[in-house]
Amino acid sequence: MKLLDLNETIVKLNEMGAKKILLQLPDGLKPHVFDYFNKLSASFNIIVSSESFYGACDIGSRDVYSHVDAIVQLGHSEIPNIKYPKPVIFLEYRDSHKIVFPEDIFNSLKAGGYRKIGLLCSVQYIDHMKEVDSILKKMGFSTVTGIPDRRMKYPGQVLGCNFSAAHAIQNSVDCLLIVTTGKFHGIGVQLSTSTDVFILDLNDLSLKNIKDETDRFIRKRYVGISRALDAEKFCVVVDTKVGQYREKVAEVIVDRIREMGREAVILKANEANPTDYSNMRCDAVVFTGCPRVPIDDADKFAMPILTVTEFQMLFSKNPPKRYVMDEIVAVDEIKA
Ligand code: SF4
Repeated sequence: MKLLDLNETIVKLNEMGAKKILLQLPDGLKPHVFDYFNKLSASFNIIVSSESFYGACDIGSRDVYSHVDAIVQLGHSEIPNIKYPKPVIFLEYRDSHKIVFPEDIFNSLKAGGYRKIGLLCSVQYIDHMKEVDSILKKMGFSTVTGIPDRRMKYPGQVLGCNFSAAHAIQNSVDCLLIVTTGKFHGIGVQLSTSTDVFILDLNDLSLKNIKDETDRFIRKRYVGISRALDAEKFCVVVDTKVGQYREKVAEVIVDRIREMGREAVILKANEANPTDYSNMRCDAVVFTGCPRVPIDDADKFAMPILTVTEFQMLFSKNPPKRYVMDEIVAVDEIKA
């Protein structure tokens, strides 16, 4: 992986008069920690966070960030609608591998009668999405890139917690095509829209319709979450990360649980630790932080763990009529 250029970051840190800096690196960039540390520590007092972090929603623990002047986060793009309690400089990572797209890779779109294609991507592949855009146009397709809500920085960008770029264009295109790796974002787009969704998977350069995978996902989730229907004791968790902090949402859920004559405690945590909830002898967990946690980590929990929308599907007075992916539109502000 190419080293990210820190020169502009150093200029910005000097302009803001920062002396003590917290440096956050995602796991993929940690092998270069000495390079980044040496370059920055020539001018600043650098603290490196060894905690895992998952995105721009997470600037680490308050105990650490409250003692620095600024944070440098490598790899992710800013989430514009978060009021970060400290100045944060985001140095984004973009996948710069040269990709030669097979000539016939988009033929199935033509054969399927799709003419107007909505384009989406995970942010590190935004340059590849632009390449795909020009290939499709040369092939005679028309394309649209969705303008997302204020949680996203770039047109077309999706996160595991926000598919607003897809909502914006789903009714004006024949299908959506997401440039990504893996399946999660594609499944999320499919669940949050009613149009056909294709993944252009850069791992194996394949173009796949995600519908069957999405149906399998829904079946698996229903089996898991339906175990919560008879739960009497709920832990409702507020994640304390700045970009996942939804205390007001948790309070609404707690009110509903009590209204049903069941018991709920509200918990704050920086990590969803399965042992904690087992020790508390709760029957189900509702997790209001990153929507990926209940989905990706469900097998680690002894009891069902629900996203906010899954709770609504099971217990709301007006439940949605189909499976809905939880999305974070806004979060409660955390003061420094
Ligand atoms: S809440 Fe989850 S999906 Fe959203 S940015 Fe944070 S880690 Fe990523």
